[in-house]
Amino acid sequence: MARIKGSTLTNGARVAIIGGGPAGSFFSIFASKLARDIGRAIDFTIYEKKTFTNHGASGCNMCAGVVSESLVQTLAIEGVNLPSSVVRWGIESYFFHTQNGSVQIKSSRLQQRGIATIFRGGGPAGSSEQGVQSFDEFLLQKAVEQGAYVKHAFVDEVRLEGDKPILFSGGKILQDCDLLVGAFGVKAGTGRMYEKLGIGYKIPSTIKATQSEIELGSDWIASRFGHSIHIFLLHIPGIKFVSIIPKGDYITISMLGKKTDVEHIKTFLSHPVMKKMLPSGFKIPERFCHCFPKIIVGAARKPFANKLAFVGDASSVRLYKDGIGSAYITSKAAAYTALLHGVGEEDFRKHYLPVCKTLNRDNLFGQFLFSVNALISIVSPVNRSYFKLIQWEQKNLQKDTPNSDILWDMLTGSRFYKDIFFRTLNPWPTIYVLGAMVISSFRKVFFPHMRK
Ligand SMILES: Cc1cc2nc3c(=O)[nH]c(=O)nc-3n(C[C@H](O)[C@H](O)[C@H](O)COP(=O)(O)OP(=O)(O)OC[C@H]3O[C@@H](n4cnc5c(N)ncnc54)[C@H](O)[C@@H]3O)c2cc1C
Repeated sequence: MARIKGSTLTNGARVAIIGGGPAGSFFSIFASKLARDIGRAIDFTIYEKKTFTNHGASGCNMCAGVVSESLVQTLAIEGVNLPSSVVRWGIESYFFHTQNGSVQIKSSRLQQRGIATIFRGGGPAGSSEQGVQSFDEFLLQKAVEQGAYVKHAFVDEVRLEGDKPILFSGGKILQDCDLLVGAFGVKAGTGRMYEKLGIGYKIPSTIKATQSEIELGSDWIASRFGHSIHIFLLHIPGIKFVSIIPKGDYITISMLGKKTDVEHIKTFLSHPVMKKMLPSGFKIPERFCHCFPKIIVGAARKPFANKLAFVGDASSVRLYKDGIGSAYITSKAAAYTALLHGVGEEDFRKHYLPVCKTLNRDNLFGQFLFSVNALISIVSPVNRSYFKLIQWEQKNLQKDTPNSDILWDMLTGSRFYKDIFFRTLNPWPTIYVLGAMVISSFRKVFFPHMRK
């Protein structure tokens, strides 16, 4: 295919965005704002097959629904403040539950409930909770406010005529465009369509996760789960990792493991550690809202071509963390490239690809850190010592909690993995805490009446 350098979006240009999830909305918000700022009249149309106000799978983009501290703050700076109808719960700490007990992890950095939990759609199937606003619908409305059109249609075919993308649905032409933005995620299988275009694009590799929504009532959730996300490393066969995210009347259970299914959810809910957190006599409902979405573990190959850019999950995402924040990063970079530099393949290679590469390189550090974490969790003596260290640090130190901060950043995704990796190489914080632990034990034994 011929490479066009510097083809720009001029007045009257048409941009089609496939997917109205966070990536599609972010792209439209930034691109239309920027177009206005530089005085160009450009038409943005988002194609979205779902209705986000619906309850259950037909309205939901299936995720744990944690909006990271950094994204909440970045959005506020952009003038996008999440309203209380969108935020289901504010989070101020994490709880770690292992065979060796539980520990609450707070960050000395988090000054307020900066982490929000949200529903991507209208709420779980069968929910009667009132006043819930979908996060994805909220963002889509922001895109509309910036001037984007939203069309509810499933784009089932894309053809390139010369280098002009043409979109189809049910055999009918929807439109042609000067730039096609693929913000279709990985859950609908739309990416395969682009692999067949022969542009070198390949969708990211994925694994299957298990998600379920369990209704417990907000009073129970407030008293037992508090304003915390709960992480469970319980060595249940087939289950690697479980997190529980409180959201109003519901908890979202997000599970990673080998081919996890409904039976794994039931096994987890019956585990003694978990049972303690459920109301007495709690029975697992016959039917509950659950799904098996794909979670990304690799990056897309060549997420751009002439007049084509892929953003969000369809491009590069931070490993296991802050997928919505990654959608923000890639969409903003693609929007700025398209408006300020051009929509040719070379423009995206020069100005968009480096952003994707930064995320991909950071994920290599993430992979390493997660492997070390997995190792710590299976070697019992190491696990116990590490757990004790964190417990002690949380109980005795208010400000300087270097080891907890590393864990906090791993859990929340609020720092890049590279930064966390280099912090783990520095032995002094651990030596300092171990020293403080020894001094504290010494004082307790020899000077039991002395205050801290
Ligand atoms: C189990 C799990 C838990 C997660 N937890 C979190 C979390 O807590 N926090 C976080 O930040 N991230 C989380 N993520 C990641 C997060 O869900 C994604 O990174 C994020 O949704 C990516 O946004 P996106 O817009 O690229 O894709 P999506 O959210 O998947 O949106 C794509 C949109 O495109 C539409 N679409 C697709 N194909 C077509 C088509 N052909 N025509 C029309 N419309 C189409 C879809 O309907 C959808 O609305 C999680 C992911 C999983 C799987």
